[in-house]
Amino acid sequence: MILKVGSKSETVRAVQRMLAGMGFHPEGIDGKYGPKTEKAVIRFQESEYLYADGIVGPVTMEALEEAYMRHTQEITSPGADSTDGIEERYVFVRCKADKYKEGYSHLYLRQDAAEAYNDVRRQVRKLGGVLTSSGGKRALSAKLNSNRSATSFHYLGLAFDLYIWSGMEDLANDPYVIKVVDIEERRLEVFFKCDSENVPVIEISDCVKYSDPGLLHRKTISGKYKSLTELFIDNGFFPIRARSRFIDDGYPLAAEWWHFQYENALTPYVSTFGGELLKVYSKQRLENTPPWHFRDRVFKMNWN
Ligand SMILES: [Zn+2]
Repeated sequence: MILKVGSKSETVRAVQRMLAGMGFHPEGIDGKYGPKTEKAVIRFQESEYLYADGIVGPVTMEALEEAYMRHTQEITSPGADSTDGIEERYVFVRCKADKYKEGYSHLYLRQDAAEAYNDVRRQVRKLGGVLTSSGGKRALSAKLNSNRSATSFHYLGLAFDLYIWSGMEDLANDPYVIKVVDIEERRLEVFFKCDSENVPVIEISDCVKYSDPGLLHRKTISGKYKSLTELFIDNGFFPIRARSRFIDDGYPLAAEWWHFQYENALTPYVSTFGGELLKVYSKQRLENTPPWHFRDRVFKMNWN
């Protein structure tokens, strides 16, 4: 079955309904495949990185049904009940990432963070780079351990991790190189590898590898790179410092270079962890979960 300009059927109507539901504006759900439906299909295909020909064949149809199912689940599941008086809740949005080795190809973020993340990903990909992933939103029931803060931005869907093994492994070939900016402050900066004529070759000093625990053998790398940390900060996502176990003991899981959190959504000294949890979950869902225990933490005071 192929649907294109000129097609008229109930299936066309179903396609229009799905496009409209996801915000692709086919303008009119009349079962007639006109130029506006074609444009909406092209926008949808581009958003899914499909070949954007404006024709609905089996591949596009399957992608449409899958995306629509996802979309309806997302808008009905998190915090759909508003019995505790909070009517405006954010939803979690499924975002694409670039699969690298054992990394993920998707992650979930709160909708405002998702929008900013997608903007950054578009810019990175335009320059021939990738955004790898070790995940975004963390489940309320996720087990705590020494690597996981109880007040993590991950619970709010406001943080994500690049794939941990996509940097600090093979300086010449990894998608990212990580530079030590300030060892006392435990500040690192991430650069992504570009593949574009518009990016000049630069030199980056003090690049580090997991296999150099004392960070004694920092290297200077040259190539087409751009600062990913800078790009994320410009879009509201901030890095966190490496934990001291990385600097002192070379413990790789403490490096945290991969972690970025959407602090633009919060007001320092005002926003609380509990207040942010309530923007994505109902109170009933939160009670008796480990994160809810820390609901009174205030951003920049005793929570960051
Ligand atoms: Zn993280």
